[in-house]
Amino acid sequence: MKTPLSDLPPLKGPLRAEALLAWLRTGEPEALEHLWARADELRRQGVGDEVHLRGLVEISNRCARQCAYCGLRAANRSVSRYAMSDEEILECAHQIREYGWGTAVLQSGEDPAFTSSRVEALVRRIKAETGLAITLSLGERTEEELRAWKRAGADRYLLRFETSDRALFQRIHPPLPGRECDRLGLLKLLRDIGYEVGSGVMVGIPGQGFESLARDLELFAELELDMIGLGPFIPHPDTPLGTSTPPPSADQVPATVDMAFRVLALARVQRPEANLPATTALATLDREQGRILGLQRGANVVMPNVTPLHHRARYSIYPNKASSNETAEQTRLQIDTQLASIGRSVAAGPGHSPAFRRRIREQEGAPS
Ligand code: SF4
Repeated sequence: MKTPLSDLPPLKGPLRAEALLAWLRTGEPEALEHLWARADELRRQGVGDEVHLRGLVEISNRCARQCAYCGLRAANRSVSRYAMSDEEILECAHQIREYGWGTAVLQSGEDPAFTSSRVEALVRRIKAETGLAITLSLGERTEEELRAWKRAGADRYLLRFETSDRALFQRIHPPLPGRECDRLGLLKLLRDIGYEVGSGVMVGIPGQGFESLARDLELFAELELDMIGLGPFIPHPDTPLGTSTPPPSADQVPATVDMAFRVLALARVQRPEANLPATTALATLDREQGRILGLQRGANVVMPNVTPLHHRARYSIYPNKASSNETAEQTRLQIDTQLASIGRSVAAGPGHSPAFRRRIREQEGAPS
């Protein structure tokens, strides 16, 4: 559909679903150029020109869940499983510190070996030894665990809601037997506990329609997310969604890097003061330009992977992930070069989002 720029709603957020839908559907090149420029302008105003680097440590690829799109699902016997030792994780945290990056992101499948007390002790050690901000991305965990980790010093929690379409979510993300799966409820809980909260969606999941994607974007604003991560759906051959072909539908959101850029730019319109990563999934589909274009279309965060190389390739949520054969040092040099090429620089410090800092000030009753 080629809706001309003059007929599209102004990019003044937060936008409602109807306006978002018009922007998601337009194929007019002039309109897209306007969207990229507006997202870049809002990024500069909301979070500035500096780019926050978060060192990503994929601490375990074991998972009890059966998500229909993910190569780490429990039923996938073709992946060789690993879990890092606490000492290995600490080494990665020290490396992040040496690089001058402010945050360690600990990510894993839902691995029961990372018990509440083990993660709590790990968070305390990383804080005491490195002073880094800590982001956890360990799946759906109990309120007790989330509270204990916050008390231990964790700063942020990432939990993507993936899609606001409940029926689609249940198809791709079945709950554990006997357990309910309420990611939106968990996001609200995380916020109440005091975490800086991140979420996000996949773009182009088979069966995902444009209206539900517009609703996802509405939710970014309603949930007042501090961080938003998104990327295109990339099929994994060892998963149910990677091997089935959905019936063709005009309403199917395409799983393309261009559509992911469009959602990224609109996420910036929805949340000008949130932290938005240029994700690895973007860099995977467009190796040359994915990261840079992401940073020029709304993103202000990059998450370089510091997982030891002998584990890295096995964290295969989707195949052929960018950076899966690069050392952390190679990735660091490449990112420094890329940032210099677009006149951006690396930020120092923990890099909390202005959205989160504003919320904390308001809760403490200080003038914003
Ligand atoms: S998406 Fe996360 S919870 Fe689902 S199977 Fe993959 S690692 Fe496990």
